[in-house]
Amino acid sequence: MQNKNRVSRRSFIKMSMVTAGALLTMPKELLSATGAELKKVVIVGGGVAGATVARYLRKFIPQKAQLEITIIEPKTTYTTPFGTNELLTATRTLEELTFDYKVLEAEIDTEIVHQKATALDNTAKRVTVADGIQYAYDYCIVATGIGFEYSDIEGLDETNNHLVPHAYDLWNDGSTEQISMLKSQLDTMPNDGKVVLVAPKNSYRCPPAPYERASQIAQYIKEDKANATITILDPKSSFAKQDSFEKAWEELYGYKTSNATIILKPETITKKIEILADGKKRLTSYEDETIEADVVTYIPTMKASQFTYEAGLVQSGTAAFDMAQRWCPINHETFESTMAGKESIYVIGDSIRSNLPKSGYAANSEAKACAMAIVSKIQGINPIPQSIITNGCYSFVGKEYAISIFQKFKLEEDKSAYALVPQTRGTSPLEADALWRKKEAEQGHAWYANFRRDCFGV
Ligand SMILES: Cc1cc2nc3c(=O)[nH]c(=O)nc-3n(C[C@H](O)[C@H](O)[C@H](O)COP(=O)(O)OP(=O)(O)OC[C@H]3O[C@@H](n4cnc5c(N)ncnc54)[C@H](O)[C@@H]3O)c2cc1C
Repeated sequence: MQNKNRVSRRSFIKMSMVTAGALLTMPKELLSATGAELKKVVIVGGGVAGATVARYLRKFIPQKAQLEITIIEPKTTYTTPFGTNELLTATRTLEELTFDYKVLEAEIDTEIVHQKATALDNTAKRVTVADGIQYAYDYCIVATGIGFEYSDIEGLDETNNHLVPHAYDLWNDGSTEQISMLKSQLDTMPNDGKVVLVAPKNSYRCPPAPYERASQIAQYIKEDKANATITILDPKSSFAKQDSFEKAWEELYGYKTSNATIILKPETITKKIEILADGKKRLTSYEDETIEADVVTYIPTMKASQFTYEAGLVQSGTAAFDMAQRWCPINHETFESTMAGKESIYVIGDSIRSNLPKSGYAANSEAKACAMAIVSKIQGINPIPQSIITNGCYSFVGKEYAISIFQKFKLEEDKSAYALVPQTRGTSPLEADALWRKKEAEQGHAWYANFRRDCFGV
């Protein structure tokens, strides 16, 4: 037995030095041959990170008798946030982006608990859900996504934000309705309507997504509202893939000309939004400039999810909003919380404090690394195999026109952060022709299908 174990450990480390994916090439019987006692993992949140970690834990340890996996996720269906910008040009439908959890349940061999988690007691090692039932764990993984902050904007809060839909999170504020609402506001605005998109402050979920949305709105305008415009009010001075976006806007939407459909105002911080009697919106910047618009999509400042605050996984606590301490501190190697008394609680996905991009791709990669860290702990494997975190993103900027970015990160030597792996950052060439852009759009849709399957099994 001891021998078998040693072989297993050596293989495990060797096989997974490169990526978590490599671990899957290892014979399952080796991974699960430790004869260990039953361990229980409770995963709070069944989005990109939560679903992926569940799938990979089960791949690594197939036997339910050795590893019990419970997912707590209030929604019975998941709609991917990626792809939702394309709803605005009717390139995709909400139905295409939505699926239920049946395949995932079959894979992890346990029914998902469709309840909201309400408390996490790490002394008793239990998660409580809305109906009061408690779930015991040896390891708890929190993957509850993002929350929104409204204290830095006058005139707006959770009660009226639907009037200026962020449509940016499918959990908060019933945002599947928000994206439909944004679409219907665009459909009913006049032909010469004015749209404003307020981009968020750093750091936030999916850095290119606000600009993809602006592009999709410009495409919609081009096809359906000939004299309308979209203005981006951006608190930042630069943004992800800016060169590629601006090039596309020049080619497609008259950017930087007197006929521009799309206008960018950088370093413009919106401090106030008023909803006027006629339904229009007035936005005021810190420089006291005002702009009125028929349709506004305001993407708020983001922070770790509400549950992570309630569970004591954020340094600032719940008393007052602290911009510097709004994400969950973690051990970058294992994703275990570094908050005092929170050992055995792991945080993955958009809630973490890290220099990794907040993207689905990164969340999926973090989930695999976290699964490997937990399996290593269960099986006594040390050192933990080092994972590469991958990020990638296609942005659909026009009809049959997509731009992409791909990059890889590895742990710094001192394990305090991630560093870009040299020569792994690739973006679409600035001077590509129409066929290239079309091919990237096709690849982007193929990526969606493959990526979704890797996260959710469907
Ligand atoms: C418009 C848009 C476009 C995007 N495009 C891309 C892209 O092209 N590529 C890319 O890589 N990423 C993209 N993203 C980002 C990607 O969607 C997120 O980074 C990813 O979903 C993060 O995963 P997560 O698991 O942290 O959060 P989520 O996927 O949001 O999952 C969180 C889950 O936690 C659940 N939850 C919350 N609170 C509780 C609670 N108390 N109890 C139980 N469950 C709870 C929620 O219901 C939710 O299902 C895009 C995002 C947007 C908004």
